[in-house]
Amino acid sequence: MNLTAAAVKAKARALGADLVGIARGDVLDRHPPDPSRPQTPGRITSDDSKSVIVLARRLLTGINRLKGHDDRHKQYSTELVLTDLEEIELKLVYFLEDAGFPSITVPPVHFDPRHYDPKGDTRGPLSLAHAAVEAGLGTLGLNLMLLTPEYGPRVLLGAVLTNCELDPDRPLGDALCLGEACGRCLLACPADAIGQWKLDKERCAPLASPYGFSYLMGHVERMMKASREEQLALLKSKESFMSWQSILRGVGVYSGCTRCVDVCPVGRDYDTHLRDAQEEIAERTPEKEARLAQMARRRESGDRGPHYAHSARWIEGSEGE
Ligand code: SF4
Ligand code: SF4
Repeated sequence: MNLTAAAVKAKARALGADLVGIARGDVLDRHPPDPSRPQTPGRITSDDSKSVIVLARRLLTGINRLKGHDDRHKQYSTELVLTDLEEIELKLVYFLEDAGFPSITVPPVHFDPRHYDPKGDTRGPLSLAHAAVEAGLGTLGLNLMLLTPEYGPRVLLGAVLTNCELDPDRPLGDALCLGEACGRCLLACPADAIGQWKLDKERCAPLASPYGFSYLMGHVERMMKASREEQLALLKSKESFMSWQSILRGVGVYSGCTRCVDVCPVGRDYDTHLRDAQEEIAERTPEKEARLAQMARRRESGDRGPHYAHSARWIEGSEGE
């Protein structure tokens, strides 16, 4: 059975995807974001990664209007969006396989356990943000998050690899990020984890994954080291409750801080739904402002910092073999 890119995209949208784009697997294989640790479709399945279908589900607008970085409503709703996205991936795989094309999901929060890093650098087998650029969905921002014309960075990403050869989309060809002259993500980041075209994952991870594996291990370790009386108190503590609820429902495990996402002015949704709630950034400090001003001055003299060149392909949405 023949399947066209248009038919696959229509199916993905009918299943609930807000954005969908297609990249060629071999192009991603040739352009790993970090060649020293390649995250490429061919390393997941060399047989069935001819096309990479990248899917995006938008975050809920009401959630992006909230200003806290450790908000349980945000964590819960974002977890539901993650589940929804995973189900869209699964149903799209069945659709492709029913048409005769073996396929596989690349879930949003999947990471390769062989590369577990207790400091938070838990990279997946495929960088979905980079794949999304190749599939024409957007370009990378100052902290290397994906920005889209429709929703800015307010999307979650997933992907399906398939044996089906589909016409690919082209990268956008224009950077969406306003760069050092904007820097609102940097000013809003409570962990001060954002540099010039760089994210300090060790700083970001405890806030982005506030009730994940590290939180649970820290709590268990405190219990193991405590006296008998303290152990019982810790067992029945708020921390135990948060761990239990997070394991039960996934709340806050992969769905923590979104401050950089909430305040980014890129995306058609910003003016309509977010500007009135997010224009003021409470996390601004004189130190962050001074650092950003220094970056902006460097940028004016043509210096984009030591990390730009490495990511230029995806920041600019440029094409090329
Ligand atoms: S998710 Fe939060 S902690 Fe991580 S970079 Fe964005 S604002 Fe900073
Ligand atoms: S907030 Fe500004 S600097 Fe940060 S990603 Fe968005 S456009 Fe780029």
